[in-house]
Amino acid sequence: MIYFSTNKSSIPVSLKKATLEGLAPDGGLYVPSEIPRFSPEEIALLEGASFNNIAFAIARKFIGSDIPPDQLTDMIDNCFNFDTPIVELESNTFVEELFCGPTLAFKDYGARFLARLTGYFAAEEGKLITVLVATSGDTGSAVAYGFQGIANTRVVLLYPSGKVSPLQEQQLTTAGGNVFALEVKGDFDDCQRMVKQAFVDPSLHKCLTLTSANSINISRLIPQSFYYAWAALQLKERYGCNEPLFSVPSGNYGNLTAGVLAKRMGFPIGHFIAASNANDSVTRYIESGRYDPRPTITTLSTAMDVGNPSNFARLRYFYHNDYTSMARDISGIAVSDEETRATIRSVNERFGYVMEPHTAVAFRALEMYRSTTGNEEKPGILLSTAHPVKFLEAIEETLETTIEIPSNLQGLMEKKKSATLIRPEYNELAAFLNRLDQ
Ligand SMILES: *Cc1c(COP(=O)(O)O)cnc(C)c1O
Repeated sequence: MIYFSTNKSSIPVSLKKATLEGLAPDGGLYVPSEIPRFSPEEIALLEGASFNNIAFAIARKFIGSDIPPDQLTDMIDNCFNFDTPIVELESNTFVEELFCGPTLAFKDYGARFLARLTGYFAAEEGKLITVLVATSGDTGSAVAYGFQGIANTRVVLLYPSGKVSPLQEQQLTTAGGNVFALEVKGDFDDCQRMVKQAFVDPSLHKCLTLTSANSINISRLIPQSFYYAWAALQLKERYGCNEPLFSVPSGNYGNLTAGVLAKRMGFPIGHFIAASNANDSVTRYIESGRYDPRPTITTLSTAMDVGNPSNFARLRYFYHNDYTSMARDISGIAVSDEETRATIRSVNERFGYVMEPHTAVAFRALEMYRSTTGNEEKPGILLSTAHPVKFLEAIEETLETTIEIPSNLQGLMEKKKSATLIRPEYNELAAFLNRLDQ
């Protein structure tokens, strides 16, 4: 399989190059030259298959002969060593819980797969890859734990001091080994500015091979299609539901784009609901065909506070820039903080289920879609992107309840923090990176 840039002026590359580079030289995002298709017979054979077998079947089509099958199998088993539960809330409404990985958020799927592919390709090239990330929380922790112990890779992550939650800070600073945390005495924008400068600093590139691990990387996107295929096939097998609606809480739109890939591959998926918070540039585009990104607004569902989503270019590319064809597959619905809080309360009362804010946005959007289109009977599934414990403050403010801390977290809270404190100045980052090789 060959990968093109959405900007169409870079030369096509292999998956190895697309993975190690991240962004194409022309500033575009890599996309597969064609989306692989599964025939109805192939899909039928996957009904009842395990998550990892479905993951393998899909990964094979994107990877081709670049990784031998037995090694790919090992990689997938090592990557997805946790469950992907599907919970029935009420008849015809389901939650896919994507928060059972090591950092309790769906970003584990993308980060763990990307880490293993990066390690594999780096070893082939005989290189040590340094992954540099600025994080305001969730991405950094998934990357830290995703790359932990992966040979031929190391991670340097920058986070703003005092601006991440205590749980997030533990996740960012305790992976150890090949993962280095830099606590920056500044804000997230400082961290991002310093990382950007490192990528264009020629003196660093003499001795380091730098790459980023954000959601523009195609190898972070591919594994996110696995759980759409899994859910669609499980709903058919266990509940006889065909072609369900998927409601996807969206920020950078990587998750939704992966869903579109799964549908195009031929998996039985009906329609998508792009659920956003007040940062609604894409939901407005789907309605009007006009894209006018606005400054980011802070909301309760913080991981979706994105004014100008990075994966939107890819989504548009898959629909040939035609918003009417996008709107046939995707409906955009924006949900306010007030509605989000009301939803957290009503879901808890009706089903005794505790939902964190991002998942609640998806639930509310599904309800709104069903009532405005009269599609009350259509089976629907919402993607739950984080465990409630990750957004404890927001939930405890809204519900008068306490949340049980999952057992794998208790060990985490006891680990010793290891981070290097630096000032928000580029030369401090450069000095740290140069010292790594000594
Ligand atoms: C990152 C994130 C999202 C948004 O996912 P995108 O792929 O950026 O649209 C939603 N919920 C949570 C909890 C996240 O961490």
